Amino acid sequence: MGKIVDYHSVRTGAVVVENGTIMAVVSSDELRHYGVDEVYGGDGYIILPGLVNAHTHVAMAKFRGLGEDFPIERWLNDVIWPAELEWTRKEIRRWALLGMAEALANGSTTINDHYFFAGEIAEVAKELGIRAFIGQTVMDTIDFPIAEPEEGFRFFKEWAGKDELVTPTLAPHATNTVSLELMREIGEFARERNALIHVHLSQSRGEVLEVKRRYGLSPVEYLERAGVLGDNLVGVHGIYLGDSEVSLYAKSGATLVHCSLSMAKLEGRIAPIIELAERGANIALGNDSPNPVGMMDPFEEMRFAAVLNKVWRKRTDVAPAKEVFRWATLGGARALKLKAGLIKPGYLADLVVVNARKPRFLPGENPYSHIVYSTRGSDVELVMVNGEVVYKNGILLGLGKTLEELWEELRLF
Ligand SMILES: [Zn+2]
Repeated sequence: MGKIVDYHSVRTGAVVVENGTIMAVVSSDELRHYGVDEVYGGDGYIILPGLVNAHTHVAMAKFRGLGEDFPIERWLNDVIWPAELEWTRKEIRRWALLGMAEALANGSTTINDHYFFAGEIAEVAKELGIRAFIGQTVMDTIDFPIAEPEEGFRFFKEWAGKDELVTPTLAPHATNTVSLELMREIGEFARERNALIHVHLSQSRGEVLEVKRRYGLSPVEYLERAGVLGDNLVGVHGIYLGDSEVSLYAKSGATLVHCSLSMAKLEGRIAPIIELAERGANIALGNDSPNPVGMMDPFEEMRFAAVLNKVWRKRTDVAPAKEVFRWATLGGARALKLKAGLIKPGYLADLVVVNARKPRFLPGENPYSHIVYSTRGSDVELVMVNGEVVYKNGILLGLGKTLEELWEELRLF
């Protein structure tokens, strides 16, 4: 119960949930006709669709604080990749749990994760009860034993249709770390299996130059040549996209996941999101990872997207709060082909309840502004995924532990 906010409407009332989906949206008075078991929220609470964190590397929580203020290529080559070669299966589970718990408790009902040891990450997602799209990162133009291409296909086959909440994806690393041949093979596999392809593109100057040198193509042209540029492609970053690439990408139906905080910090720039959106591309938001951004908070990501686009374009009329909220909800749902992102009957019961009984939520006239500019992840009191309450008042119900107990356990690891 509370103020129900989605991209289409703002109402006061109650959301009735049954069997994993939203059954009805009713007034508080009508609620008594439904014989409900439990009621959450109330006066001063905001209920919003679960936020879709459309690009994450949750296990990178382990690297929080490493390589601060380095540019992306130095950060990746000198800090992150050497550290990643040290991963063990057991360790990855612990850190994936930490990053994922953080994302969930802060209001992400869905994550779209791209990482090594994907099977371990999928198991962690099951423990927490979060909705998770997970892909095993693969590369073949550099020698990286934990990114073997075969493992990506193997993981997909193992998890396809296995779990209601875990969906495997194909996760080629980027346009410069995956050969055109392998990308073609991934495209064919994806068409046969109706799979999503999750890939970084145009995230550094070095990547753009390398793809040009190798194939004479831009990253988007490379994706088109490989036959993967279409509506099952979830591309990430795109900070060096040229004007013709923006048009080609927007026309293809692919999604661009905007991780403005991560790219602003690592490369001092952000993607041409406004141009992409104006030309019809679907936009989603993602936290990327606890390194470099510091925390997995989808509200923070919305706030930065709203502000950084204004700075980048030197215009204050771009990225209004309501539009940014749409990217974080409907945009993410569309990218992952989920019937989610709106609070209406028949949609997935992935919901977030924010406790707005605080002075900074007054006055209450503009809920989109409140969600983007006044809310923090720590205001989230309850998270429901697929009709199940998985987080409530600091407790991760899947684990039966509070966030503080998790901290206590993992700090000694
Ligand atoms: Zn990434």
